[in-house]
Amino acid sequence: MDRSAIPSEIKREVRQRCGFGCVFCGWPIIEYDHMTPWAETQRHHASEITLLCPNHHADKTRGLLPEADVRQANANPRNTRVGESAPYAIHGFRGTTCTVSASPYVDFYANIARTGERLILFSIDGVVPIEFRLGADALLMTLRVADKEGNTILQIIENELVFSVAPWDIEIVGARFTVREAKRDFFLDMRLLPPNRVEIMRWSYSSKFGRVDIGPEGLRLFSVDNPRITIRGPGKLVIDAALGACIGENSTGLGAGIGVP
Ligand SMILES: [Zn+2]
Repeated sequence: MDRSAIPSEIKREVRQRCGFGCVFCGWPIIEYDHMTPWAETQRHHASEITLLCPNHHADKTRGLLPEADVRQANANPRNTRVGESAPYAIHGFRGTTCTVSASPYVDFYANIARTGERLILFSIDGVVPIEFRLGADALLMTLRVADKEGNTILQIIENELVFSVAPWDIEIVGARFTVREAKRDFFLDMRLLPPNRVEIMRWSYSSKFGRVDIGPEGLRLFSVDNPRITIRGPGKLVIDAALGACIGENSTGLGAGIGVP
């Protein structure tokens, strides 16, 4: 019998059970492992599949990691034990310009060597949930993603990614990162494209001062006092500014591409 692909529903069940990372080390770049070799079972049951990082998977395949040890780690996965993922370093962001796409219709671009060494996508009454900063030998990305109650569920602090195991699903496939609350309900859908580009297809950030919504229909900015601003196609708008959009008070000292007072 040919080995068939693992159905996506089963993969998700395995990710949820294992805390979205290698059951030994918590690393979020994972492979699916049939704890009993496929040749013996020839079936995909979520309870018989676990998550291993490429290193631990290679050890198991070479016979350097006994199946019993894998089962033991699977019974108490590292990330669910700790409550969050092991830190993952994002490599390769560098240069003096960067672009962040916020929906298919808006590119925030900045030459940050020229414009104050930071590209801040949004400032909401002084809070900056996403930015790039020019470090000594790298571009440093910072991003905070929270749930509706304001709990941090994923953060990248200067290129180091950590996420909570609380969301319904977290998946990293190639350069695409998705965090979901339910089947079609995205907290975040983005692609990291080093050396100097990030594409955010879905993300919402809100505070009591305002809200930013990025989705397939475009970019929407709200402030508490003003009607929303919506930017959508057919064309693409490129905003060349160190502070892309400012909602509320501007305490960054940078000129804003879009202001929502
Ligand atoms: Zn591992």
